[in-house]
Amino acid sequence: MSLIDLSAAELVAQLRRGDVSSVDVTQAFLNRIAAVDKTINAFLRVDADRALAAATKIDERRARGDSLGLLAGLPVAVKDVLCIVDEPTTCASRMLERFAPPYDATVVAKLRSADAVFIGRTNMDEFAMGSSGENSAFGPTRNPWDTERITGGSSSGSAAAVAARMAPAAIGSDTGGSIRQPAGLCGITGLKPTYGRVSRYGLVAFASSLDQVGPMARSAEDAALLLEAIAGHDPLDSTSLDRPAEKYSETVSRPLEKLRLGVAKEHFGEGLDGEVAAAVREAIRVYESLGATVEEISLPHSRYAVATYYIIAPCEASSNLARYDGAHYGHRTDEKAMLAELDTERKALVAVGKKEAADDLDSPLVRMYRQSRSEAFGSEVKRRIMLGTYALSAGYYDAYYLKALKVRRLIRQDYDEAFAKVDLIIGPVTATPAYKIGEKADDPLAMYLDDVYTVSANLAGCCGIAFPCGQSTGNLPIGIQLQGSPLDEDKLLRAANMYQQTTKLHSSTPPV
Ligand code: GLN
Repeated sequence: MSLIDLSAAELVAQLRRGDVSSVDVTQAFLNRIAAVDKTINAFLRVDADRALAAATKIDERRARGDSLGLLAGLPVAVKDVLCIVDEPTTCASRMLERFAPPYDATVVAKLRSADAVFIGRTNMDEFAMGSSGENSAFGPTRNPWDTERITGGSSSGSAAAVAARMAPAAIGSDTGGSIRQPAGLCGITGLKPTYGRVSRYGLVAFASSLDQVGPMARSAEDAALLLEAIAGHDPLDSTSLDRPAEKYSETVSRPLEKLRLGVAKEHFGEGLDGEVAAAVREAIRVYESLGATVEEISLPHSRYAVATYYIIAPCEASSNLARYDGAHYGHRTDEKAMLAELDTERKALVAVGKKEAADDLDSPLVRMYRQSRSEAFGSEVKRRIMLGTYALSAGYYDAYYLKALKVRRLIRQDYDEAFAKVDLIIGPVTATPAYKIGEKADDPLAMYLDDVYTVSANLAGCCGIAFPCGQSTGNLPIGIQLQGSPLDEDKLLRAANMYQQTTKLHSSTPPV
């Protein structure tokens, strides 16, 4: 077996024993990136020298007998939405093309102190807005199972990098499904932690009340290892929960006894592809054969989840993205050209006697804001800003935003009632396997509806995990989702691991 085929847990064990060096492991993944990423476009940047230098340092420290961190020597890919000091962090946007943050995100700092090696920055939908991976300003990521197809988004590059063996593990972020959806569509394991479980400090904000960072890996066992490294309280994030990280990597292999699974009847309605439904039903039978009991539950407000999410997320985004004005942050238009243009416009108006219109022209400052934002944001980001600004504007606030907050509360109550009866909720993660790139490009509403199974967990602050449970007749991965009560990541990981130990479905390899 070559190094790139080993799991993260196995690599960490071999590194610890000194069977392999971090330089060898890192080089193996760098070679794989060089071989396949021209096709996949999972990485926005790979700095091989920097990665190898970090790996060398860890090998030297190990040789000296220093005590090393949990992930010592393991290459990890990081979504381009988390700040790494003095390294570009673009959010796959022209707006941040030249931004290099002056500090590390807490998750990055934790990975550093766990002695992980940063192997590269992964592609994503611009500012994490999207569910296909097509909204990157730097080109779509292609699905390693069929390069004509989407990976899912927004953590497109992280999912594809792990699926195509370009990294043993990666970090993603999930505001409404961005870890779980691409994990499901690329046949890997992705976990969205409970809101507050992982620090958001240094995560470029999309919708602050929904955003969470989480692990993407090839198995629950590997995801457990990564989550253990990044979870825990952070005084720099006031929404971070005051709970220490748990030893997920130690508990993940313990099967859950008397597991009670809930199946929401709302999850098997209209729009769900037949093959996906069948694969999920089959996975439920596997759990039953492992001793789980299955009960039908109801999440009656889930039918409003997409509508609620697409009010709250754009509202928060419109506010968060106000900082990109060319002055505080981000791309600034060519000012000389802009001033000259403004002058020409003014003169032209004055020449035809329209002095008032000339006086009404933008001030240079406003023109600078307007032009900088128009030039550097992609169309989906602009759409979100407009939707959010509209919904928050005076007179509409009560009708949209306030109402959405009330529905959000009802969605949370549905979960509370469900989790009084069952341990975990089992169901689909996406309605269909990966579709063709471009297929929904002109239909934003169709794309928004793809989030139907994932946004509720974010609205309710619950945790969720997605992993493969089968393949379509077209050989595309089909994913399944388990959702858990706040802080039940341990249960999610153990339940996913039980399934993976039984079916081994998670170890299928894409053809790329
Ligand atoms: N697809 C959802 C959106 O476009 C979720 C994205 C995410 O989780 N970052 O907003």
